[in-house]
Amino acid sequence: MTAETVMGMVISSQNIGETDRRIVLLTREKGKIAAFARGAVKPKNPLVSATQPFTFGEFFIYPGRDSYTVTRADVSKHFDFVRKSLDKYYYASYMCELAGYYTRENLDASDILLLLYRSFQALMSDAVEDRLIRYIYEWRLLLINGEMPDVFKCRKCGNENVTHFSVSGQCTFCEDCAGHDDNSDRMLPSVLHTLRYIAAAPLDRLFSFKVSDEVFAQLKDITDRYLETYRRYDFNSLHFIEENIIKT
Ligand SMILES: [Zn+2]
Repeated sequence: MTAETVMGMVISSQNIGETDRRIVLLTREKGKIAAFARGAVKPKNPLVSATQPFTFGEFFIYPGRDSYTVTRADVSKHFDFVRKSLDKYYYASYMCELAGYYTRENLDASDILLLLYRSFQALMSDAVEDRLIRYIYEWRLLLINGEMPDVFKCRKCGNENVTHFSVSGQCTFCEDCAGHDDNSDRMLPSVLHTLRYIAAAPLDRLFSFKVSDEVFAQLKDITDRYLETYRRYDFNSLHFIEENIIKT
């Protein structure tokens, strides 16, 4: 058994018994992996802080029969959302759960890891509203997974003058072609602009805009319905957001 070093983020952490901890790491090298951290609950053990959720760094692991074992970690960043606000903690938990849903062991997850890291930086900075960060993250994650519709042209005729979003068709339409589809929604021009920006902006400028309440409401409506239609999983952390943060 050879020890290896991976760079990644703790996306979930669970105590096992009195002293140990099982974590899930999203890594640059190995995708999503489960790892066991012996003694990580004992006070004074250096793994206590390194194995908390939202911790980013280098992890020294060796493979076992069912999972890896973490022996040491060099933490480069811990995002302390609990201290910042409970809302941010809920959003960050949901983002981790969603990242876990879309990743597998030995599948390249470096884009998603980077997106998660940038999203966490945005949550910590307060420059953009938490609720908007969540929707930017969702769409960008869909984009990485090839599940975001083409928002730059009408699917039917290729016209770039897109006006409608079709949840059921997983696509966008121009004015003429939308006439044949009763299920599509006319988008506010700013909603289309927002979706196009999310799809095309470089990662370091992704979280750099704001939207009006009206634009946010439509973005939320389209995104929620789109994800509900195509996601086959019930996210625990999403219930927390819906019950504790979103009251409208
Ligand atoms: Zn068209």
